[in-house]
Amino acid sequence: MTKSYRLSLIRGDGIGPEITEATLQVIRATGLEIEWEEVVVGEQAKTRFGHPLPDPSLETLKKNRVTLKGPLTVHKGSDPVLVRHGKETIAHPSINSALRRELGCFANLRPVRSFPGLPTRYPPIDLVIIREVTEDLYSGLERWVEDGVAEAVKRTSRKACDRITRFAFDYAKKQGRKRVTLGHKANVLSLTDGLFLDTSRKVAREFPEIEFDDMMIDALCFQLVNNPSPFDILLLSNQYGDILSDLCAGLVGSLGLAPGANIGEACSLFEASHGAAPDIAGKNIANPLALILSASLMLKHLGEIELGVTIEDAVVQLLREKKCLTPDLGGTSSTREMAFELARITGGGKTSD
Ligand code: NAD
Repeated sequence: MTKSYRLSLIRGDGIGPEITEATLQVIRATGLEIEWEEVVVGEQAKTRFGHPLPDPSLETLKKNRVTLKGPLTVHKGSDPVLVRHGKETIAHPSINSALRRELGCFANLRPVRSFPGLPTRYPPIDLVIIREVTEDLYSGLERWVEDGVAEAVKRTSRKACDRITRFAFDYAKKQGRKRVTLGHKANVLSLTDGLFLDTSRKVAREFPEIEFDDMMIDALCFQLVNNPSPFDILLLSNQYGDILSDLCAGLVGSLGLAPGANIGEACSLFEASHGAAPDIAGKNIANPLALILSASLMLKHLGEIELGVTIEDAVVQLLREKKCLTPDLGGTSSTREMAFELARITGGGKTSD
């Protein structure tokens, strides 16, 4: 009997609805039965329900456990997202961190790989960023000290450092990866980054079969743009992981090729690394591949490994044959044309919609 799923869907803002529709078309082409429950959050929810993360939306996301998510707009200087837990109110710095933290997703996984057919300045790259997403400078602890002086707290706990490091090593073991590199600045931030370094060194001793090393974050950036090939898994705190995700997407050619997964014990959230790209929204030229590759990660997470690989292989074939590429990849095709072709390849040559 074929399995069917009920999952949550956030179409998102900007290019979100276009790339989400493209992704749904490709998922349908795999033949997998998914009933989608649409959830409105962020700016749209604020306009419709008066809160960016209304209780019913959060309940649905928790109930379905797995979410496919388009990018959400976060305006510079916008108010924190306040979520009540009994008598306590938690202030999240953005809707994206609110979603991750409220769903208990502590690990942000971002595979970065080069694809055949797309020229880049570098030899083939195949690395994975594992970013801690519950703490650090994005904890929402930011305030004015006095007029003209503001500060943000870089919260770091041994518990969270231990949990993300174990996640990185477990992932390395399962995926047959050989090396974990921690990026930090412990020479300057000796308490916070020092704690991360100290904790990850201790955890690493329990995984002698996997190489562990650490680098100052600035030196790591230099090494990455100079020669990224030797890197395998990059273990990073929240802010460094955010910045290096875009840097690494640049190494392989486009933000439109960088998928992502947010993993927790109960819930997971699959989204592209890029944002809502308001400059190209509504033009039908956004590259949907990052969200489509995120959907491939989602299918693998659900245990539908073969179907996840089918989508990934279809992306490789499309890029190798340079078929229907969007402008960011040097082509002239639209989002819809790319999705149609990818769905055709995914479905084994059949056209479904
Ligand atoms: P962005 O990633 O949206 O865009 C950066 C540049 O990359 C733009 O020139 C854009 O056109 C291009 N780009 C991004 N995705 C693309 C795609 N799929 N195809 C082709 N080109 C693409 O970053 P930004 O402009 O800094 O942010 C825009 C909005 O998105 C902001 O409100 C930001 O807060 C939000 N954002 C959301 C998420 C998320 O939902 N996880 C992540 C990052 C940014």
